[in-house]
Amino acid sequence: MYLKELTLKGFKSFASATTLRFEPGITAVVGPNGSGKSNIVDALTWVMGEQGAKNLRGTSMEDVIFAGTSSRPPLGRAQVSLTIDNTDGTLDIDYTEVTISRTIYRNGGSEYAINGSPCRLLDIQELLSDTGLGQQMHVIVGQGRLDEILKADPAGHRAFIEEAAGILKHRKRKERAIRKLKNTEANLARTDDLLHEIRRQLGPLGRQAKISRRAASIQISLRDAQSRIFAEDAQKSLKAVPSCAMSWGMCGESWKPVNVNWRKSRCISSRSRR
Ligand code: ATP
Repeated sequence: MYLKELTLKGFKSFASATTLRFEPGITAVVGPNGSGKSNIVDALTWVMGEQGAKNLRGTSMEDVIFAGTSSRPPLGRAQVSLTIDNTDGTLDIDYTEVTISRTIYRNGGSEYAINGSPCRLLDIQELLSDTGLGQQMHVIVGQGRLDEILKADPAGHRAFIEEAAGILKHRKRKERAIRKLKNTEANLARTDDLLHEIRRQLGPLGRQAKISRRAASIQISLRDAQSRIFAEDAQKSLKAVPSCAMSWGMCGESWKPVNVNWRKSRCISSRSRR
């Protein structure tokens, strides 16, 4: 595996698309001070997922976008593409050539792609993590970086060695899994609290439901009793009407309570059936 091609478009001092082609072995980039040699190294670290603006010698990520010169206006986006030769299959992907790209827009948007297909930063990190190339970039020893490695404490040395050995990827996965576990534990605790609260309300709610069921059955019995009373009243009223006075003209007034009682009893019994 080796770095084959690097294309910078709107990245730092490289306003126009510039492609550098590397061969296996050692490549040296020479140039006068301020000509952009370190910007090439920045482009390499950036395309591989660097997130710290400070590590790219800037104050914000937007600083990587061409800021303009007296003869050229600033650009709205920066893009870097890195092509890696993968004929020996070092990268865990079914391509002999892999191009990773990163684009940033001045309005804040940012995109990653592997062989032209949009992807997440995580996909790029995972792809590179077994190769010794990675976010910590110990393989890129920029100005002042060698000093940093030499002065690193045991934990720092361990991080460099772990990345070189390809352990970092698994450690990151472990950290992610632990984070997920912690979230799940917190969710479980919340669910337990809810269950506890619901269980606490179950007793009083059960008692209320029992009372409400009892009230409904009492109401039905009450309506039945009322209908029976009305029916009995009606019967009594009917009996009280003399058989000889069954004409409307004579008994109109006496019939009234009988009719009303019948209507009431019919209405109540049909309601209690419902
Ligand atoms: P040295 O050998 O002194 O370290 P160098 O060749 O590594 O120099 P770089 O530091 O890569 O040079 O490039 C510095 C140049 O890049 C400066 O001229 C700076 O103005 C220019 N530059 C940096 N960021 C931007 C940007 N966003 N837009 C335009 N130019 C930029």
